[in-house]
Amino acid sequence: ILSNYVETSVKESDMSLRTSKIQLKIPSGCDGAVFVKNLYLSIDPYILGRMKKRVPYLSSYTLDSPISGYGVSKVLDSSHPNFKTGELVWGFTDWEEYSLIKDPNILFKVHDKDLPLSYYTGILGMPGMTAYVGFFEFCSPKKGETVYVSAASGAVGQLIGQFAKTAGCYVVGSAGSKEKVGLLKNKLGFDEAFNYKEEQDYDAALKRYFPDGIDIYFDNVGGKMLEAVLNNMRLHGRVALCGMISQYNSLEQSEGVHNLFNVIIKRVRMEGFFTIDHYHLYPKFLEMVVPLINEEKITYVEDIAEGIESAPGALVGLFSGVNVGKQVVVVARE
Ligand code: NDP
Repeated sequence: ILSNYVETSVKESDMSLRTSKIQLKIPSGCDGAVFVKNLYLSIDPYILGRMKKRVPYLSSYTLDSPISGYGVSKVLDSSHPNFKTGELVWGFTDWEEYSLIKDPNILFKVHDKDLPLSYYTGILGMPGMTAYVGFFEFCSPKKGETVYVSAASGAVGQLIGQFAKTAGCYVVGSAGSKEKVGLLKNKLGFDEAFNYKEEQDYDAALKRYFPDGIDIYFDNVGGKMLEAVLNNMRLHGRVALCGMISQYNSLEQSEGVHNLFNVIIKRVRMEGFFTIDHYHLYPKFLEMVVPLINEEKITYVEDIAEGIESAPGALVGLFSGVNVGKQVVVVARE
């Protein structure tokens, strides 16, 4: 439950756990609804934005009501023609053990039951789509190009590195700990990685890894890193603006990019995107990614927290990099 609106950074005490009795079926008068048991919750950075009273781009959560987000669920009762009892689905649900989904608009069926169900919060769900759309549609990668991704070990970033390798690119990632840097280089196939928290000068760090410049930057963090990247872009480079997590605590007073002239002189294409606008590409994405998983050409690192009571702590942890890989909360396993 959202107990109070967040001013700047989120704390566990902004959320509380509540128990209430409900009927395990659709109440009368809810035609078109689906009643689900929630299995996995996806803990995502944008949730912080919706916990604030005024959000420029999304609707705020209602105070004293459950937080909502992506999850994987089992249909227990349905009055919607597209969903049947017993089916597994992923999409928008509430942070509850059981939820009544009145508008199953963003609800997809789980097709491949042989893959881990939790993957539908990550590689097979919204973060996977984000990486796919952001990289292939917005960055237009070409073999031999140089790619840089920030927050590289996270839900989206780890896939950018691996997609870049499948496209024949040289890829470098940055992350916030020695453990994460090791993961990027030793498990996820990045060519190079560095701990941005140990770098005094981002510009110098980027020059070390990209002596001839960056063709593609997949931006997850914004702020000073984006500024440094723009100094190091190559002619006709592309920047996909995916997220700006370094600025989410105070979007109003964010550290801006000062040198946009670099975008002009390097003829850089810099474009923001919202994954939610691109779900028509989901079937095409699955066609690409499922064989890569099955043939073990791509791997996915998850950070699993047990029990719905762990969700507030898991959310808070995203903003200091506690999560190693995609942050998932298990509500129930079946
Ligand atoms: P992650 O799994 O990467 O988790 C967030 C990570 O961000 C943390 O683990 C931490 O890693 C890093 N981080 C936290 N604070 C900072 C900071 N101040 N500076 C630099 N890094 C920081 O999250 P996601 O992969 O789910 O999301 C990545 C980005 O993509 C976010 O900005 C998110 O909002 C955005 N996004 C955008 C979408 C869209 O439609 N445009 C859709 C989905 C996500 P570390 O230890 O490396 O610091």
